[in-house]
Parts: sequence; structure tokens; C-alpha cells
Amino acid sequence: MRLVSVAVPVPFLDALTYNVPDSYPRLPPIGARVRVPVGKRMVIGCVVAHDAALDAGTTPRDVAAVLDDEPYLPPSVVDLCAWVADYYVAGYGDAIAAAMPPGSRRQDASKTQRIVAATAHGLETVRLKPDTTIPKLTAKQREALEILAAAPTGLPAATLRDRGVTGDVIRRLAIRGLVAVRDERDERDPFERAGMDVTRDESRLLTPEQAAALETLTTLAGAREFQVALLHGVTGSGKTEIYLRLAERVSAAGRQVLLMVPEIALTPSVSALFRSAFGPRVAIQHSALSDGERHDQWQRIRRGEIDVVIGTRSAVFAPLPHPGLIIVDEEHDTSYKQEESPRYHGRDVAIVRARAAGAVVVLGSATPSMESYQNATSGKYTLVTLERRVLDRPLAAVRIVNMRDEYADEGPDIVISRPLATAIEERLQRREQVLVLLNRRGYATAVFCRQCGDTFDCPNCTVSLTVHRARKGWRARCHYCNYSLDVPKTCRKCAAPYLEQAGFGTEKIEQQVRERFPQARVARVDRDSVRRKGALTSLLSRFAAGEIDVLVGTQMIAKGHDFPRVTLVGVISADVGLGLADFRAAERTFQLLTQVAGRAGRGEQTGEAIVQTLYPGHYSIQLACRQDYRGFFDRELVFRRAMRYPPTVALVNAVIRGRTFDEAMRTATEVVRRLEPVAGRASFLILGPAPAPLGRLRGEHRVQFFLKGTRRAEMRNALKEVLAAMPEVRRRVTVDVDPLSVL
Ligand code: ADP
Ligand code: ZN
Repeated sequence: MRLVSVAVPVPFLDALTYNVPDSYPRLPPIGARVRVPVGKRMVIGCVVAHDAALDAGTTPRDVAAVLDDEPYLPPSVVDLCAWVADYYVAGYGDAIAAAMPPGSRRQDASKTQRIVAATAHGLETVRLKPDTTIPKLTAKQREALEILAAAPTGLPAATLRDRGVTGDVIRRLAIRGLVAVRDERDERDPFERAGMDVTRDESRLLTPEQAAALETLTTLAGAREFQVALLHGVTGSGKTEIYLRLAERVSAAGRQVLLMVPEIALTPSVSALFRSAFGPRVAIQHSALSDGERHDQWQRIRRGEIDVVIGTRSAVFAPLPHPGLIIVDEEHDTSYKQEESPRYHGRDVAIVRARAAGAVVVLGSATPSMESYQNATSGKYTLVTLERRVLDRPLAAVRIVNMRDEYADEGPDIVISRPLATAIEERLQRREQVLVLLNRRGYATAVFCRQCGDTFDCPNCTVSLTVHRARKGWRARCHYCNYSLDVPKTCRKCAAPYLEQAGFGTEKIEQQVRERFPQARVARVDRDSVRRKGALTSLLSRFAAGEIDVLVGTQMIAKGHDFPRVTLVGVISADVGLGLADFRAAERTFQLLTQVAGRAGRGEQTGEAIVQTLYPGHYSIQLACRQDYRGFFDRELVFRRAMRYPPTVALVNAVIRGRTFDEAMRTATEVVRRLEPVAGRASFLILGPAPAPLGRLRGEHRVQFFLKGTRRAEMRNALKEVLAAMPEVRRRVTVDVDPLSVL
């Protein structure tokens, strides 16, 4: 028998063993896709090992079809998936699925079909393939090739048709491999369409700090060995320019570059800058691409036609043949963590990939995560610091407004404080721009009856419903499960007409800004306002073009943007995150405030930030206002040490779901009971089980426990062993290694 190990798309499953029937002369290589039976279904899996083991007395099933002669996933990416599955206690197939391009599970349309499809809709460019020796052709075909020979960059199919070359001729030439047909829509950027225009200025002089940082990083990259550098540069210190120049050097030396960003649409200028420097040799994986477009891009990366890949979390699996540099921009950003299986952290996977490839990793941030900064201070990473903004622009001056004073003077309903209102007014008069941040969407955070006290809670989750403005009236919606209902005029319980809304979110801020400043052009950016594809890009480019004066939004407006005309940033409620029972609450607050304040004063005019808070004395707010990262890190590390929280220890979180609370608790107790003897032998602690902070979610009850220790391998192996012995329980347990959120 010829056995192979296949990762299949079935949750939690390890790779399965199959026999390759003799009708296939060759064993499918590692990374090839195969069709295999699982139970009664046929699925497409990926070969992950040869010489697979077989339990005594079992007969393997046959591979039904081999889909690739060559590896589809590069073997280095298969290895990376193996690491992800092991480290994050996920199924092998789950990890492979994360690395596959969209559409790879459908069988590939034949090449001919794809060419025919591409020439059918008229948007494509046709180009003569280089070094084609020309075989026997019809007169029409020869004529077409002559026209194309004179146009090395290709011609639109429509132009060819005008010159008498029919679509049929093009298709025949394409099928014979003589011309390349490319759908131009693949190559166009949503940012170009939106008019985002950033061109590279090659003559620009680096600041002395930038030059020194680039020198250090170039030396690291030149060693062609695995290294990690943390580029800690204040907001506006010009990190992007360093990424670009380093990327050029690494690419000139023949290796590829991967640039990871939290969300492409939030960093359009980075993409545009790289596009202007690398042209078509940069692949940008943004959400506006269709599956087909993404798939084509993926193939070009795999064939080595791409020098730079810019993408989000999942780009860490991009099939680059020889990555020499991986940059993780805004490395502290929580969107690098995938909140479904496999629950990987893109930054950490990037580091593992670089280690295997002998590549350099550059982690960039103005507010590094506690984890990364600790690794930098302990000498594990090289620390490169940029202390100043380019052209010595000052950081924004930050003013704290104590909202308790505002409430005392202006009443409890005040949302925009007097100092913030005055400051907005000034900016509007000077035709400068304003960002207003509130990290909470919706109009109001709760509805209750003043007579009987009834509240509108989600029937499926332990949260109150958020009120949104609807076309007519109000709609209350759960932000976890999307349950919603119209807010009635009278109470559902006592019929009294005294329903009242409490709390406020971005929708209310937007309304208040409009009311107070009727002359201002106002827009809002949050997950509700940008649901439509392309909406975010278009809002941001309108803001960049000066068509919007005040942009209200959630943390989406705090990330990496570079809008030179913004001179004021208002933070409505700096303490939104501080009330959460999460040990990272102070870190998140510090990061958010520092980042959003960093959006002000990036142009010629100096910037100002006004921070409204109920806790003006809290260290995360105080230190963010002074933009004192080091002060915050030192202080926070004392807290983490004292409480034995990451980064001083590692955490593994397990959530057990059940139909009833008792069922979930019983199961969790049993898992913990089986873990205890292992924990005793090893050196980790088990905390819990206890009801999860979100005790019910989407109708299920949730109980959780934590493992806490310094040796992750011990903790995850113990969990794996115990869960493997309880297969019926496994489906109801969510394991999160290095959880970012413990709510
Ligand atoms: P960061 O990512 O560190 O917050 P950016 O890379 O966005 O900062 O740079 C901030 C601004 O400074 C950008 O508009 C950028 O074009 C500009 N910039 C960067 N380097 C230089 C330089 N050497 N000289 C002049 N302007 C620069
Ligand atoms: Zn719900």
C-alpha cells in the first residue's frame, strides 16, 4: 500500500491516512490537493505527509482523485499550517483551510474555460507572450500577433476588435499559449478608483533617525538569517518610508517581501505608495477583490511573479517562494488575531514563518504590544526607535476634560463638552478637519421602562440590546447574534408609555455634531456605516479630499491614517474600555488614545487632542496624554507581574458551551478534573471553571476555565490529551491559546 496523510476540512480532525491506488503512477506530492471520502461525504483535502502511519488492524480508504501533480500549497506553507494546528490546538484541516485561497476547494475550471470566460466580457488586455516561437497559423492569427508584437504592454480586446481581430481569434491564440489574456479588473485598485493618489518621491531625504533605523534594519536583513526587530516609532515618525526602502533592498537581493496591515482599506496610502514604487509586482489583497481575482493573484504569487504582497492576517500564508522580509505594521492591532478556529495571531505566525525561511521580521508600532516590547527590552528582538515626527512636527498637545465637572455644570445629558465644542467651532472656521472618536456604535446603549424597570435584553445573549436609528423609528439590536426588534411606543410588560433610552454611541454623536454645527459636513465611520462593499474606502477618500469636515467614528478612525489637514481629535469617552473585566483594558485604552491623538497635526499645522473622561487620573489616560509609551509599559508590567498575567505568563482559555448552564458546568468540571493530575505533575495552574463573562451567547450557556503557566507546550498537550479522550465533548469546547480577549 502507498499511504499518504491528508488534512481534511472537518473541524478539529487530525490528518487522516489514505491509500493511493495503483492507477496513479506517482504519489501526489506534499501540498497537492486530493479528493477523499470522509464518512459518507467526498471532500477536497491536502496531502501533508508521505509514509503515513496506520493503526494496526485498520484498512485505509482509497484516495478518490488526485487533483494536482505539483504542490498546490508550497511545502513550507504546509509546515506552517502544521505548526498552527499544533500550537493553537486546532484541526490540521482548519489550519490548511486558512492557508488556501478562496475557491480552491471547488475544482479548478480548466484553463481553457477560464480563458473563454475572460474574453467574454470585453474588459481584458491581450498581450503577446515573450519568447514564443511561432508555429503554423492562419492569416488572421498571424495578423493579430503582428499587431500585438508592436504593443509590448498589450492592447485592450476592444481595440483589437476595432482592428478586425475577433474574440474567437484571441481565444484560439490564448488556448495555444501564444498570448496572455488578463482581466484588467484584477489589477486595478479600489484606491485608484477612489482617487487616492500617492506617488513615491524618490528624492525625499530621510530624517537622521529614519536613516539610522534603515541602516540597522538593512544590516539585519543582509545577514539572511532569522531575526526580529521591533520598530517603535511615534505616530507620524515616517515608518512607512522605512518599510518601503527596506522592501526595495530585500527585493533587489532576490527575495520577496510580505507586508501585513490590520485592514487594507484603513491604510490606503501605504498600498498606494507601494503600488507606485513596485507597480504590477505588488499584489494587494483587499476585500473588494472577488474570489476569482484573489485566486488569480494567489497563483501569481505562487509562480514568483510578485515581489511584494500586502495583505491582512491571512496573507501570512501567502505562497511566496522565498520570503526574505515580513513586516507587520501596527503589530499591536487586535485584528491580527483570528477569533475563530484556528485562533492564530498573524504576527506570531509571521515570526514562525520567518524563522523557517531565514527571514527578517520587522514589527512596527507607536504603541507596541506588551509582549513585543518585553521581547525587545529582554534582547530577544532588536529594538529600533524613532522618537520624533518627521520634519520635527510636534506631537499633538493633549487636553483632558473631566466630565464630572461638565455634568455638574451642564447637566447629565451633555455629550460634547464645552472645550471640545469650542475647539470644533475654531477648526470649522479655519477650514481644518476634525476626527471625533467614540468606541461604541449605535445610538443608545439600552432601553428601559421608567415605570416597571423592564429592559430590552437579548433573548440569546447576556447583553442589553443596542438602539439604532432605523428608517422609521428605532430598532434594538444585539451586537453579538444580530437579534433585533422594533422599539415599541409602550412598554411590553406594563404598557406604560415611558420607555427611555440610556447611554450613547456613534450615531448619537453624529446627530449632535450635525445639530450643533449645521454648517459642517459630517460623516460617520463604524461597522454599521461601512457595511456596503467599498463604502469605507469611499468615505475615507472623501475625507482625504476635504469633502468632509468632521468624521465621527469608532476605533476604525484611530488606525494608521495620514490626513494632514486634521488638526483636532476629540475623544468623547476615553473610558469606554476601562470598565471591562479584561486584564488588557488599560493597554487597549492607552493604545487607542495614543493612536487617535497621533492622527492630529500630521501636516503643517500643529494638532490638538481633547480627551473627555470620568477618570482623569487613570494611568492609561494620563500616560497616553503625555504620549509616554515607556512610562506606560513599565507601569503596566508591574501590574501584569503582580497579577501573573501575560506577558509574564502564558494563558490558555477554554470555553465550554452547553444547552443549559448546568450541562456546561458539569462538562467543564469533568474536563478540569481530568486535567488536574497532569497539572500537578507539570507546572501550570487551572483557574475555574466559572461562568464566562458573556454567560450566554447565541442561545448557548458558556462556562470557562484558564490554564496559566510558563510552558505552553505542557498546557496544550495536556488539553489535547484530555479532549482526545472525550470526542463528544470536543465539539463544544473552544480552546484559545494566547487569548487576546477574555470576555
Ligand atoms: P507613521 O506610520 O510612523 O505614523 P507615516 O509613515 O505615515 O508615519 O509618515 C508620516 C508622514 O510623514 C507621511 O505623510 C509621510 O509621507 C511623511 N514623511 C515620511 N518620511 C518623510 C521624510 N523623510 N521627509 C518628509 N516627509 C516624510
Ligand atoms: Zn444576542
